[in-house]
Amino acid sequence: MKTHIAVIGAGAFGGWTALSLLRGGAHVTLVDAWGPGNSRSSSGGETRIFRGAYGPNQPYTKMAARAGQLWKENEKRWNLKLLHQNGVLWMASPGDDQFERGSLLPLREAGIPYQELSVQEIAARWPQINLEGVQWGIYEPESGFLTARIACQEVLDGFVAEGGEYRQLAVAMRDLDGASWDSLSLSDGSKLRADQYVFACGPWLGKLFPETVGDHIRSTKQEIFFFGTPAGDDRFTDATLPVWGNHHERFMYGIPGNQGRGFKVADDTRGPEFDPTSGERTVSAEGLRTIRDYVAFRFPALKDAPLLESRVCQYENTPDNNFIIDRHPRHQHVWLVGGGSGHGFKHGPALGEMMAGLVLEDRGPDALFRLERFRK
Ligand SMILES: Cc1cc2nc3c(=O)[nH]c(=O)nc-3n(C[C@H](O)[C@H](O)[C@H](O)COP(=O)(O)OP(=O)(O)OC[C@H]3O[C@@H](n4cnc5c(N)ncnc54)[C@H](O)[C@@H]3O)c2cc1C
Repeated sequence: MKTHIAVIGAGAFGGWTALSLLRGGAHVTLVDAWGPGNSRSSSGGETRIFRGAYGPNQPYTKMAARAGQLWKENEKRWNLKLLHQNGVLWMASPGDDQFERGSLLPLREAGIPYQELSVQEIAARWPQINLEGVQWGIYEPESGFLTARIACQEVLDGFVAEGGEYRQLAVAMRDLDGASWDSLSLSDGSKLRADQYVFACGPWLGKLFPETVGDHIRSTKQEIFFFGTPAGDDRFTDATLPVWGNHHERFMYGIPGNQGRGFKVADDTRGPEFDPTSGERTVSAEGLRTIRDYVAFRFPALKDAPLLESRVCQYENTPDNNFIIDRHPRHQHVWLVGGGSGHGFKHGPALGEMMAGLVLEDRGPDALFRLERFRK
């Protein structure tokens, strides 16, 4: 008989984990309270950046390289486009370019194509950017952006088409650290019994496991703005502009207009604490002002661009921004996966593959991701 694994949470982490476990030969039940990429989840919204640059000494460039292969393999299998490779441009500031400098070796080692560009080369290619305060840049021509909630839905559709079982129900939000683990209670009154459980509940993970995870995942309010680009002008759409990131006083990033939506800009600075279930998703006047000032400075032609849409999402941050991938310390058949910390989405397929290996082959996770690092 096949091992039965229950995966709770159908976001970027849980969806890909469920699919990879299924492909690894398990019988998998995937459960989500509000559905894949729902507006409360950290995987909701239109787009996410796919990039290789991550600074020095980290596992994520390599993980992104593997994820990129898997995104493309699955695109082929499903005959659709999820990874849009319009490139990623990093604008490095003088005296504050450790991130960009430190990214070069990992990019090279992971085989992610990149070019080092002088400020003159950047100006020649993208004259619509004001390069004041920029000294040089990295361009990743094969990186770009992913469609977020659409991808989560496609992963679920693929999972169901390949024989996975999906139930849109909630696991009771109670302390699971002390649960008996005979079965899980679901919101329709039914019980779910499995051989192993994987909890990929994003910003909710600390609430479900208050003792084990608790404050090791903190949700912060993050605001995203979409501005209208000039009519008939593709200088600020993905037709000509790459995704971009800029360490300039704060870390600002954006995704050019795509699929008829506006020019997306966000400030990566961690916002105030935010409750993913009950938090009101309205952006602040202060956040809008900061973004408008930055847009006017860096993309002068968009100085008076109208705000088309805005969103509030939450990062689910760990203290060191590394993921949590571990067994529950007292319940060895329970796995905890999360802590995407504002950068997890792109890794979904690689993380899912890793999880399938750990769960099905009974292996231990890398020390970097284990919970015990918080006890040191
Ligand atoms: C504004 C913003 C920008 C970001 N930008 C990027 C980016 O550019 N690139 C990138 O790679 N990453 C980015 N990220 C990070 C990335 O989106 C997240 O790390 C990733 O989506 C987390 O996925 P997850 O599956 O862990 O969590 P989630 O997507 O939150 O999924 C958890 C799921 O669990 C379900 N759930 C919770 N509790 C229960 C329960 N009791 N019972 C049943 N179901 C439950 C929820 O409904 C939800 O669907 C960004 C995040 C935000 C918010």
